[in-house]
Amino acid sequence: MIADIEQKQAAFAAAAGQAATPDQLKTLRAEYLGKKGFIPQAMKQLRELSPDEKRACGKLINDFKTQVESRLEEIAGALQTTAPRPGSQSTFDPTLPGRKESPGALHPVTRTMDEIISIFISLGFNVEEGPEIESDYYNFEALNIPADHPARDMQDTFYIEDGRVLRTHTSPVQIRVMEKQKPPLRIIAPGRVYRSDSDLTHTPMFHQIEGLMVDKDVSFAHLKGIMDIFLHEVFGKKTKIRFRPSFFPFTCPSAEVDIQCVMCVGKGCRVCSQSGWLEILGAGMVDPAVFQHVDYDPEEWTGLAFGLGIERIAMLKYGVNDIRLFFENDLRFLRQF
Ligand SMILES: [Zn+2]
Repeated sequence: MIADIEQKQAAFAAAAGQAATPDQLKTLRAEYLGKKGFIPQAMKQLRELSPDEKRACGKLINDFKTQVESRLEEIAGALQTTAPRPGSQSTFDPTLPGRKESPGALHPVTRTMDEIISIFISLGFNVEEGPEIESDYYNFEALNIPADHPARDMQDTFYIEDGRVLRTHTSPVQIRVMEKQKPPLRIIAPGRVYRSDSDLTHTPMFHQIEGLMVDKDVSFAHLKGIMDIFLHEVFGKKTKIRFRPSFFPFTCPSAEVDIQCVMCVGKGCRVCSQSGWLEILGAGMVDPAVFQHVDYDPEEWTGLAFGLGIERIAMLKYGVNDIRLFFENDLRFLRQF
């Protein structure tokens, strides 16, 4: 029996030196430590031996067992640090095609804004920008909005420190440009504006484009012509357009410009509140009081101005019924454009 054990010890040493995978380790463990493995079987056989032999063989087997256990543990440890994680080797298929990268696209609001800007550039307008944090003077005072005007109500305007505001419209850019440049001029001012308002058709931040043209003998006919060209370009040549008298503090006379409802083509529907018309922008002739703030002579110069919300146009163009969808960054929504 002692010879048997010694022979197995040598065999184990050789096999352990070759074990390089978890499977080989498992086989080795079963072969020596498993229920039917060499060591448990040898222990059973001890019963049949004489007391002297039992003592000698028992010690030998116990030592062998300890030796096998510690060697197997050593191999297991080595395998864990060098071997790839289970499964990773078998699931890697180098012939599979790579993951597709989906290309980015312009946001519908950006696309609409770019389209509107390019129409006005083709009409000879320059693009100007101004700050989003404005002083009370540029946002209200210089635009002929007196201190008690409803537009100054806390509900509409975000006030910040030092009496400054988040601009509620892009109109302050008009003033900043006129302070620096002498007429004639034709500008548009696209950008973000802020109002404390949120529902199906309002978000606290949205985009506007402001337009201003100052020259000698600019008339309401010019305004009507420019609005016609612009709206036909955006909504199609057949779109009907109408002007309604309105009031803005910084233009006189002022008008709201409507287009025939793009959803029902004038028949009346939920979108146009059964009227057949959609309010699309505000416009008018620059009030002489505004010119006085920037030292333009109202006797010499006349001007026209207009302002519109980009999201409103994008909603009508793409048939979107909730403005908030534009800002939720839901890819399922954005991928449609
Ligand atoms: Zn309608």
